[in-house]
Amino acid sequence: MEEMSGNNYHRKQRRICAILALLQGVDRAAAAAEREETLQKYSDAGERKLMQVVCNRCGRHLKVEEGRLKEGCFSATAAFGYFSRKDGSVHHFDLCEDCYDDMTAQFVVPVGEETATELL
Ligand SMILES: [Zn+2]
Repeated sequence: MEEMSGNNYHRKQRRICAILALLQGVDRAAAAAEREETLQKYSDAGERKLMQVVCNRCGRHLKVEEGRLKEGCFSATAAFGYFSRKDGSVHHFDLCEDCYDDMTAQFVVPVGEETATELL
């Protein structure tokens, strides 16, 4: 499973926002970045350090220690394109493992699964 501790994830989010800035103007990108900040909070002292992750479904604060996420988390980012009903919007949410299990248990087609060869 890809590391969810923050820095890699955060870089991806920033990259998406930067792409949005190029394609659709700075205002939308700034709004997407601001929305992300409400879900995963980072300190601004020196290097950015993950401070908080909140499950969007149940509102529980996930366990974060020393800038690292210490429990399972499903992080989703969906960039809606031109042919969607949300043209240009980037949505993001985090789910704790319990909420992930509840959500995927409702799937008609089960999630694909494989064993990660390298755990971070
Ligand atoms: Zn939850």
